[in-house]
Amino acid sequence: MASPPDHDGAPAGSVGTARLDDPISRAEHERGLRRATLAIESVRDDVQQLAAHVVALTDELTRRLDGVEPHPAPAGTPAGPSAGTVEALVEAALPAILERIRINDERSSSRVLLGDAEDKFRAPSQGPDCEALLPLCEARCCTLHFALSSQDLDEGVIRWDHGRPYLIRQRPEDGYCVHNHPERRGCTVYAYRPRPCRQYDCRQDPRIWTDFARRELAPASPYARKEGPADTELDLIERVRSRQVALAMEGFALTTHEAERRRVERAGRATAGPGVATGARAAADEGDGKPVDPGG
Ligand code: SF4
Ligand code: SF4
Repeated sequence: MASPPDHDGAPAGSVGTARLDDPISRAEHERGLRRATLAIESVRDDVQQLAAHVVALTDELTRRLDGVEPHPAPAGTPAGPSAGTVEALVEAALPAILERIRINDERSSSRVLLGDAEDKFRAPSQGPDCEALLPLCEARCCTLHFALSSQDLDEGVIRWDHGRPYLIRQRPEDGYCVHNHPERRGCTVYAYRPRPCRQYDCRQDPRIWTDFARRELAPASPYARKEGPADTELDLIERVRSRQVALAMEGFALTTHEAERRRVERAGRATAGPGVATGARAAADEGDGKPVDPGG
């Protein structure tokens, strides 16, 4: 026997059903995006592991069938003696090949950027006296790009660019981070600012200063990353390893109640802490715009 509808036509007993045009919260929307992004990253990792197997197998077959060493050895280099089964040698070669594939991927502009898993509240502050420099530098550092961490995403305070996960969101009209006060140039989310904002030191950064000692600013560049480009091989290896840890933490956050715990923790900080300040790395008090607590 059919049951009478009990909510706008939804079948009886469908507890929790909402109208299709009901609004969803930003937290719910972002959690969905994060799950989808993590799934894509997971597939990307599977493909990279498969690619590493193919390369390792092709290398070993080149040695055994063609009798020569594979690329990048010079063409025609005689293959050394085989010291094991194909399966064992392929397994042994896999870690180095996979790392090389991941290093190349690190240079790709299409991959998702995720900040490292270090606890930002334990990160020691570094950098110059932002409070004194703010009138001159106008928080130039707040125009640089950098990625948020799972910790930032879980708290849900710092906004990210949904079109380029997880870069900090910037205003199209002036290129500043959306949390930078447009007139006072202060950080409006100072207590929650991401780890790069706490640890960044602009003094030797040619994107900010041509000569810090003389206080000469560099020409403004809208396209840069706060943590700088990965120039050396060691930088890239380090980034690949940090990324693996960061993605594991992201998976943990999304499959446990970690995100909810951080949101509750954040609510506690907002209630217990001093008023959320405005300021670049030097915060400016919301009331009078005067910088306070530089680099703290
Ligand atoms: S870190 Fe940022 S706010 Fe501080 S002095 Fe450098 S550019 Fe200015
Ligand atoms: S210090 Fe604040 S305003 Fe500047 S980039 Fe970081 S979060 Fe944005």
